[in-house]
Formats: sequence, C-alpha cells, structure tokens
Amino acid sequence: MSKKIKARVEETREGTVLYNVPFPKDLKNLKDLTPIIIKQPYAIDYIHSYGQDSPFFAGLANKRLLGTKCQKCGTVFATPRLACMECGADTDWVELPQEGRIHSFTVCHFGAEAFLHETPYILGLIELEGAHTLFLTRILGLDPDAATLDWVGLKVKARFVRKSQFKPTDVYFVPASL
Ligand SMILES: [Zn+2]
Repeated sequence: MSKKIKARVEETREGTVLYNVPFPKDLKNLKDLTPIIIKQPYAIDYIHSYGQDSPFFAGLANKRLLGTKCQKCGTVFATPRLACMECGADTDWVELPQEGRIHSFTVCHFGAEAFLHETPYILGLIELEGAHTLFLTRILGLDPDAATLDWVGLKVKARFVRKSQFKPTDVYFVPASL
C-alpha cells in the first residue's frame, strides 16, 4: 500500500481573526465582493422519542438485552420489531442471551462523528441463541489492526456502559474469554 503524502493544509485550521473587511466607496462594486465565509460552533438540543422501542433502551440501562417474539409465527428479532417482519402479527418483548458468536464483522476506518475518535473499530453481527436475526454492535477486546477470519464463530459476550446514555451504543460485545 502506498503512503499517502499530504499536499494540502487543512482548511479547518484556525486562521487570523478578522474584525473588519474592505468596503468599496461605490455600492455598485458590492456584487464583486468575495463571499465572506465564517466559522462558528453550532449545537442544538435534539428531542427524540423512542416510542414503542423504549423498552429496548430501558433494558440496556438495566444491563438486559431485549428482543421481540412474534405472537403468531414465533420469529425472534434480536433488533426488536413491534410488528413481525415475517407475518405482520404483533410481537412480545423477550429477554435475549448475553452470549453469542460473531457471525461476520468489518473494521471501520471511518465513521459518524460519534465514532471518529474510536477508528479503527470493529462492527460485528452477532448470532444470539434463540434469535432468528443478527444483532449489530461494536466488538471490543480484539485488535482491529490484526483482523482475521478466525474471529468468525468466536464466542462473545455483551458488556454494558455503566452510565446509560439510552443509545444503541450502551451495549457492545467482547470475547467471552475476557
Ligand atoms: Zn410472525
């Protein structure tokens, strides 16, 4: 793999603080003014309802992994669905085992803002006994720089963050041997 050599200074670096700009005497020339580009912090409070999925997050806060089971055909969803994806019937909440096996994984070198500081990190699909769908989660405790297909089938167990943030990232998996 060839080494990537930097050929451009990052545009996001702080420059000189400018308190004024040149201004033409003739207002007709204002259309030629170079666009003013500013940088400022931007934050919003985002209020979001988990609605019917709320029990899943309440479960994570209590170190429990919850899925749903179809009342009619018995399909168990590791990522909870309030309506069965197979037959459309209602489902009930069920507790899932906290041990499983890695079905597949990928090493992420990029990610959404919340995960950038963790790259490279491992994202895995976990097989949980009794569940008919896979559970997507981060896998820690393995070296992402030494990924190997030997990890497929590896026994893993759930770990929960101590202070719940009521987010899917409240749970992650580590090798069962840890
Ligand atoms: Zn069903």
